[in-house]
Amino acid sequence: MSDTPLHDPCRPPLVDSTTETRNTTCYMCACRCGIRVHLRNGEVRYIEGNPEHPLNQGVICAKGSSGIMKQYSPARLTKPLMRKPGSERGDGQFVEISWEEAYSILEQRLKKIRTIDPKQFALFTGRDQMQALTGLFARQFGTPNYAAHGGFCSVNMAAGMIYTIGGSFWEFGGPDLERAKLFVMIGTAEDHHSNPMKAALSRFKRNGGRFVSINPVRSGYSAIADEWVPIKPGTDGVLLLALIHELIRLGLYDREFLARYTNAGQLVNQDTHSDDLGMMLRNVQGDVVNPLRPANFYWWDRLTEQPVSDHAEGADPALLGHFTMPDGTPAVPAFQLLEERVKPYTPEWAEAITGIPADTIRRLAHEMGITARDQKIELPIAWTDSWGKRHASVTGNPVAFHAMRGLAAHSNGFQTIRSLSILMSLLGTIDRPGGFRHKAPYPRAVPPNARPPKGPQAVKPNTPLDGAPLGWPESPDDLFVDEQGKPVRIDKGFSWEHPLSAHGLMHNVITNAWRGDPYRIDTLLIFMANMAWNSTMNTSEVRKMLNDKREDGEYKIPFLVVCDAFQSEMTAFADLILPDTTYLERHDCMSMLDRPISEFDGPVDSVRIPVVAPKGECKPFQEVLVELAGRLKFPAFTHTDGTRKFRNYTDFIVNYETAPGSGIGFLAGWRGKGGEKSMRGEPNPKQWEMYEKNNCVFHYQMPVEYQYMRNWNRGYMEWAQKVGIRRDKDPIVIHIYSEFLQGFRRAAQGKRPGKQPPDHLRNRVETYFDPLPFYYAPLEEQATDTAKYPLNAITQRPMAMYHSWDSQNAWLRQIHAHNYLFVNPRTASSEGISDGGWMWVESQWGKVRCMCRYSEAVEPGTVWTWNAIGKSAGAWNLTPEANESQRGFLLNHLISEELPASTAGAFVSNSDPITGQAAWYDVRVRIYKAQDDEPKQSWPQFKAVPAAPGVQSVVPRWLAYFAGKGAGK
Ligand code: SF4
Repeated sequence: MSDTPLHDPCRPPLVDSTTETRNTTCYMCACRCGIRVHLRNGEVRYIEGNPEHPLNQGVICAKGSSGIMKQYSPARLTKPLMRKPGSERGDGQFVEISWEEAYSILEQRLKKIRTIDPKQFALFTGRDQMQALTGLFARQFGTPNYAAHGGFCSVNMAAGMIYTIGGSFWEFGGPDLERAKLFVMIGTAEDHHSNPMKAALSRFKRNGGRFVSINPVRSGYSAIADEWVPIKPGTDGVLLLALIHELIRLGLYDREFLARYTNAGQLVNQDTHSDDLGMMLRNVQGDVVNPLRPANFYWWDRLTEQPVSDHAEGADPALLGHFTMPDGTPAVPAFQLLEERVKPYTPEWAEAITGIPADTIRRLAHEMGITARDQKIELPIAWTDSWGKRHASVTGNPVAFHAMRGLAAHSNGFQTIRSLSILMSLLGTIDRPGGFRHKAPYPRAVPPNARPPKGPQAVKPNTPLDGAPLGWPESPDDLFVDEQGKPVRIDKGFSWEHPLSAHGLMHNVITNAWRGDPYRIDTLLIFMANMAWNSTMNTSEVRKMLNDKREDGEYKIPFLVVCDAFQSEMTAFADLILPDTTYLERHDCMSMLDRPISEFDGPVDSVRIPVVAPKGECKPFQEVLVELAGRLKFPAFTHTDGTRKFRNYTDFIVNYETAPGSGIGFLAGWRGKGGEKSMRGEPNPKQWEMYEKNNCVFHYQMPVEYQYMRNWNRGYMEWAQKVGIRRDKDPIVIHIYSEFLQGFRRAAQGKRPGKQPPDHLRNRVETYFDPLPFYYAPLEEQATDTAKYPLNAITQRPMAMYHSWDSQNAWLRQIHAHNYLFVNPRTASSEGISDGGWMWVESQWGKVRCMCRYSEAVEPGTVWTWNAIGKSAGAWNLTPEANESQRGFLLNHLISEELPASTAGAFVSNSDPITGQAAWYDVRVRIYKAQDDEPKQSWPQFKAVPAAPGVQSVVPRWLAYFAGKGAGK
């Protein structure tokens, strides 16, 4: 064998070859790191992290560096396709068509729907990064039936925090690990905020910080924690409430912070005969601050022993006590109600439910409390608060938290995350050094100003919706229901079943559309979402629904359009396939109107620039939307004379403004005619080039006095209003007690005028819309025989693959080609299941056969597996014998998208009753050994689908990257 390496990186460039390096943004996961793509003769040779990018500063992960093999994946779709006449959905039989035919089919169909009833068209997207554009498309079309993946991802995390502190984790905020001394991570494995989190954790630990991870499984970040605290899934709220109990009992809360910056001192009406029971008392003589959100509250002043307007000069609000107003109304500060609420939530109570020893809970609470109290940070930064008080410095309490789907994906997740937000507030850590820090455009009002449409009248033929299809209800009158209180959206979002479903309920769209509940739709357009496999609960049944027909032979969901770059499980069910580009082939923007990549010190947005030409006939979905919007003559895309406003996506991004002359568009950098302005300014024709020259990033560093305490920082508020980040500049007071939730509860009790829940949902709304956090067992668990199904089953995403995106990636398949069920050896051996042996996992909904892997890194009452490694045979252009389908499995077959029938109805989503967050992690299972004579193959199995036209038909036995020869040998 020759000693010459196959590829010598030190070899001088080949004579006659052209080499170049281009900057763009990674999309091998949702993290959006900056990358440098090295090309030789126009072919991708190497991808590295961009050291000049603020997000990842040169760090790249296994996925990011394997982007080459995504580019040369054998599963790439390359041509628009129509289902072959006479073939059935799911058979994977297609014929090639031209883009003009595809456009014309869509144009005719959508034009007709828009003229008759726009909500017959539904657009739902997966983990895309263009929701400002897809949302605008839906709004202009006039359909409310739009959402992205948030409802089945982590809407509880967003809503639970935003309805409490006006911000959330990941894109919109995070832990300040530069200054924290104690870091507590809950329910997070390998997160979206991947590389920045890893780099920050490394620095944090080197600086002597203590890292505690609370998680049923010790993997990912938890593997490097100083202390792992195993917890039973779905009981995080119990732990958090017990920690709050302990902090209050010990007096280890930041009283000064609570009094000035939260509603802890605001007086709550306690008159049991009043319809306003539980609502804040309002001072009619007081300053409303903002008429759109009146804030004329009362404090009980400890100095004068009487009620005063909140934040009255010189007043000191009581946080505890019972008081009587001058008119005889009994009142208590909100904090008193919290104290009473958590009194029974003792560490012993929590131990019995979470499995965490009471002493550990007491120790953790004490550690959090004294770290916050005794290791205060003071920065010499003067600032002025919203009530006009000048502060000589910014102070902070160095306890930071981070949490994600482990808390969110339960039907009790919203109240759990309210508990977390309140714990963080008690410790005084909101937007302060060493604690939680916001990222622009957050903080936003509690709740943010966008509201969903208010009733069926909002949907009119050939007319855009008045506002965005999604929003943040503030009161029952903001719900999107008809006169009987029934849902108007196909996913039943913003209805009494899930009133605060700010991200929609994508996980119920197919089931609802199939059943015709609340109505039937005509066309469902799915972008980048694998709804026939890992993005759906109850996968086997949903696949049948996609194929189910009416008596007249028409499919129950008549027309299914799928846009994706790869031949996934979902594409086999499409009537029309639109081949998308990869992230290396297109323009894209991570916009301030959407989910930017802001830093703590100011807004940051970024772009993707194509580094190679699209493969085959692939087109970016953005181009498809802009083209269709022009053909359908949406007002925002058309001049008054009927001609198109935008040539293409890049032209749209440069020239679109949120309102005529607003100066606010998708990109905040290099605005103004010559690129001299930022945040706001006229369109700049050279804007893309300027981003490209600047590492594809625009970073606006705010003056340091605007960087902290932003909920109540007058200077920041004025700046944010000027640049269009905030509508108002009133303070964003933290809601320890949620008057908004109480408003819904009062409606359910029949004590509030306006929209009323249907009778069968009154009890549900009254129970769960509690203005103070509380614990209840997950809804599925309440409807499960837990003696029969004693174990919790959960999934998580591995570091080396992002959901289902990477099973076609030859390099990453070498890390994960099949998955095991990880079981604590005590649990497995008690069932006679051996390490590596075949076993069954069964829930009340279904069962799967898989292989067992012993693991001490999981608490004994939980089993878990990697998400989406198991594949359907033939999907992703894997051979039917590939390990992914023969040894890999999908836990989703065990999960239901609906709950068993109850007083709340027969077809209620298996979701959080407040937000509609999919309750993926609530499923209960039992395990048992597979018989020795059973096939050594995972189950269920599905018929293999052939490669679609335009997809590489002969799959090489092995794949490798050979420069200059493409992929595959
Ligand atoms: S963390 Fe995500 S965005 Fe960053 S390099 Fe890895 S795959 Fe790419």
